[in-house]
Amino acid sequence: MKNICILGATGSIGVSTLDVVARHPDLYKAIALTANKNIDLLYEQCLIHHPEYVVVVDENNARTFSEKIKNSIISDIQVLSGAESLEFVATLDSVHSVMAAIVGAAGLLPSLAAAKAGKIILLANKEALVMSGDIFMQAVSESGAQLLPIDSEHNAIFQCMPAGYKSGMNAKQARRILLTASGGPFREMPVGDMVNVTPDQAVAHPNWDMGRKISVDSATMMNKGLEMIEACILFAMTPDQIQVVIHPQSIIHSMVDYVDGTVLAQMGNPDMRVPIAYSMAWPERFDSGVEPLNIFDVRRMDFEEPNLERFPCLRLAYEAINKGGIMPTVLNAANEIAVDAFLNEKVRFTDIPVIIERCMSKFEVKPAKTLAIVLEADEHARVISKQIIAELNQ
Ligand code: NAD
Ligand code: MG
Repeated sequence: MKNICILGATGSIGVSTLDVVARHPDLYKAIALTANKNIDLLYEQCLIHHPEYVVVVDENNARTFSEKIKNSIISDIQVLSGAESLEFVATLDSVHSVMAAIVGAAGLLPSLAAAKAGKIILLANKEALVMSGDIFMQAVSESGAQLLPIDSEHNAIFQCMPAGYKSGMNAKQARRILLTASGGPFREMPVGDMVNVTPDQAVAHPNWDMGRKISVDSATMMNKGLEMIEACILFAMTPDQIQVVIHPQSIIHSMVDYVDGTVLAQMGNPDMRVPIAYSMAWPERFDSGVEPLNIFDVRRMDFEEPNLERFPCLRLAYEAINKGGIMPTVLNAANEIAVDAFLNEKVRFTDIPVIIERCMSKFEVKPAKTLAIVLEADEHARVISKQIIAELNQ
């Protein structure tokens, strides 16, 4: 029996992970669940999965939740609170694998703690890797942790890598990655109309059902920018070896182009339970609950080059990784602040890349050698981005 700790259990990835866990009660036990605020869903999950530990990061919600658990039939669950408790449950001796599915920079410290503790890390939290690339990969290699990508594209690439491949290795025979993108909801909208996009329109993704932040990232294509950086780190490749390909049907989840001219693609229905089940069963496979792909329903697959004028966030991501050092951290922090402001109707959709570009221009490149340097750049970029938003609203 393998014990899994799910960081971000109440999110879209967390819910899909618990769905897969429930299909394999003989193989997996959800031993620890964490959430920020959604204690109603967390309570339902506890009734079904009966974990040993629960972390509710928000202290007020944790108190309410703790009372509710005490008076229930699952009163033996230990309820913890605070961000430090995330690291505690992610590194428990009894934990075999950690699903890192907190959204944004908030997931960095617990994901890194799991890496240092040598766990099997199922990494959905791309922002953590973008922020701390070298530091994260070094922690993985020093502890002997196993890093399995959950992002559907990176999971697809991992599946197309040579036998015995481990994250962080450079597969010399692979010359290029074709990173697919759906193009999001605004792929065909006239560029001039994008200024009026509302949060509800931006989170309505055509193919994938995801959390609000990543849905906006998909609409601006910053998601693909973060994923391009994520791919450079996970597969030890340079940015010019990663070609973004718009593939609106989302059936191919990415491809690897080999030196002999072979291109390997991984396909499937767009459902995150596929990469989740792959990583949980790895190196075997098991049922994910996803319907078999009906290739006759697919009928055709299209491929286009992305337009960087329509999607300036993608251009900014290439700029950040090419500059290197703390720039990807700055890009990510500015994006988190800008997206949050957009979702709260404080700025327009088209302000998002403006805020990020102005924020990046305020920073000198310096090496991201230590975690302290990364966290400082993250904090500083958040302050600057908020100032830029205030200026925009004057
Ligand atoms: P979501 O918004 O649905 O869920 C986020 C989870 O993180 C929730 O459980 C929430 O309680 C928790 N959380 C939020 N803020 C927190 C904080 N400050 N401290 C602790 N916990 C906090 O997000 P999601 O769509 O499930 O995405 C999670 C991660 O997976 C993101 O990094 C995203 O980029 C990545 N990802 C998601 C998908 C997808 O299909 N949803 C696909 C690929 C990658
Ligand atoms: Mg993805």
